[in-house]
Amino acid sequence: MEWIDTHCHLDEDAFTQDCADAVQRAVDAGVVAMVAIGITLDSCRRVLELTQRFPQVYAAVGLHPNYVSAAEPDDWKQIVELVKSPKVIGLGETGLDQYWDHSPLELQVDYFDRHLELSQQTGLPFIVHCRNAEEQVVTQLRRQASRSPLNGVMHAFCGSAETAAACLELGMYLSIGGMVTFKKNETLRQVAATIPLDRLLVETDAPYLAPTPFRGKRNEPAHVRLTAACLAELYGVSKEEIAGATTSNARRLFRLP
Ligand SMILES: [Zn+2]
Repeated sequence: MEWIDTHCHLDEDAFTQDCADAVQRAVDAGVVAMVAIGITLDSCRRVLELTQRFPQVYAAVGLHPNYVSAAEPDDWKQIVELVKSPKVIGLGETGLDQYWDHSPLELQVDYFDRHLELSQQTGLPFIVHCRNAEEQVVTQLRRQASRSPLNGVMHAFCGSAETAAACLELGMYLSIGGMVTFKKNETLRQVAATIPLDRLLVETDAPYLAPTPFRGKRNEPAHVRLTAACLAELYGVSKEEIAGATTSNARRLFRLP
């Protein structure tokens, strides 16, 4: 079985000591590609270094909504330059976050739009972070979709059935992370089960949100299998089928070899 972890933060401090070991454990577990996601300009540069060290690591570059208020005016221009680097396969993460409230909403909306426009210009898919902002995210996606078809993914999806349906109708992929394995998240499991298999992706969001039985511990790309096992049960299909579908979806969306 082959897996693709479509969202991880391998450049974060949690991996400073043993990034190479974590990548190797993932490879040993059948993870054929990992998408390392940038959240600030510095983080994007670190992520690009990782793509040079590890053949299985690819990069998404962008500015996370929680960090846009700390961005220098020039940072976006540099992100646009970094997009041309080899192994950049996506834009983000971007989106809206009204949980932490680290950046004014207007500024988040502005940067979200920049990513969406850049996606349209470059053909690279965008990666959406959405926290306490489902309505606003859907509104902004709809606005963009009225101009051009969308090419993107809702990362670590944990929204309502309505939001899932709206995103699917807009042509988005939905990526499911470790939260779906948490005992309490029955609603998320019900929503996840409604995602058509050809729009489903899996991710870890490592080092965060480790699936059961590693909940609360550091997450790593090898654990993507545990989330996938939970999805196989939900869909009533084999793990092979989940692996086959999610891996070919990820290859299609990110144009991976
Ligand atoms: Zn993330």
